Amino acid sequence: MLTQRELFFSHVAQTSVEPLALEIVEASGINLIDIHGKKYVDLISGISVSNIGHRHPKVVEAIRLQTDKYLHLMVYGEYIQSPQVNLAKKITSLLPDHLSNVFFVNSGSEANDGAIKLARKFTGRSQIISCNNAYHGSTFGALSAMGSEEYKRWFAPLLPDFHSINFGNIDDLQFISSKTAAILIEPVQAEAGVYTANSEYWKALQTRCKETGTLIIADEVQTGFGRTGKMFGFEYAQFLPDIITLAKGMGGGMPIGAFISSKEIMMSFTDQPVLGHITTFGGHPVSAAASLACIEVIVNDDLISTVARKSEIISNFFIEIPLVRAVRAAGLLVAIEFDSFETNKKIIDACIKNGVITDWFLFCSKSMRIAPPLNIPEDDLLKALQTIKISIDSIK
Ligand code: PLP
Repeated sequence: MLTQRELFFSHVAQTSVEPLALEIVEASGINLIDIHGKKYVDLISGISVSNIGHRHPKVVEAIRLQTDKYLHLMVYGEYIQSPQVNLAKKITSLLPDHLSNVFFVNSGSEANDGAIKLARKFTGRSQIISCNNAYHGSTFGALSAMGSEEYKRWFAPLLPDFHSINFGNIDDLQFISSKTAAILIEPVQAEAGVYTANSEYWKALQTRCKETGTLIIADEVQTGFGRTGKMFGFEYAQFLPDIITLAKGMGGGMPIGAFISSKEIMMSFTDQPVLGHITTFGGHPVSAAASLACIEVIVNDDLISTVARKSEIISNFFIEIPLVRAVRAAGLLVAIEFDSFETNKKIIDACIKNGVITDWFLFCSKSMRIAPPLNIPEDDLLKALQTIKISIDSIK
């Protein structure tokens, strides 16, 4: 009989020629357990997803209760489904008043595609500006806004009227004009390797967008739900977006995403044409129930208040290590930079061998990603950091 590994390589589509191919049979809290019974600390939260750890009991319970009631009923938007209604009420209660209307989808790419369509429809303009080194997803809309020619060129032609500027560069904001429907921007550039911009930049962005009637879409797919030490990344960066996009940490491990705007902006989807943006599974009731439970855990357990201290522990730990070239942190989204991808890869491999999962960033392969569940106990965090130190020492 073929093993799971053999079947995986034969029948499950691959995204690289050398996938990690860890065979995980169970996950709970901060841990993953493989087929051999080996335990790993997930120090990247499945790439900023498991913000409250894996299989949180409150999330599992919410899923169970919802499966006792109903699964899919109808394409999104037609029926009143309480998991969606309750979730929309909860999320909007955590946002500024104007971000009051939620369109549920299934993923971050879809959220960004939906937000791009919404901005074009509402403004009647076509131009979309995004930033170099930004990752917004892999569907055609999100890909057109990606800040990497290398990732885009193989799939050309992409959508017209997408332009890139440099993140954090005030002079480049002049490219935003009365032709620009929206700027799609991450409050913290995640896949670029954790880059932030100063408050002057965000003020200038906001002013320029006001002058030109351009909407600001904040891609919160990776920064949302406490990752930066605020509930949303725009609070961390300190600006007010017109639309935000969410996914990843939103579902407590279940697939769900959303884009959120004012009722006025969102109403532009209701006519010309009617049903101009629809989805079958967006806001699936089981995912929506899981998401509400996840957000309640973040809020009720006050997880966000623990982020700054843990972030500091990580930064202080690595700054002392000679092989480390730089540390960039936005809450529990941290990049540890080495001299090269080769060094970083050796360390990441040694960490995995020693039972700690880290990773690199899509557009910054010489930096190691550290983004643990927000509720990781400090003792476990310190132990994991020691394991990384041992791994670094082992490659010298
Ligand atoms: N936006 C950002 C900032 C992301 O980091 C990602 C995924 O890594 C996406 C969008 C795309 O999300 P998804 O993979 O759910 O489509």
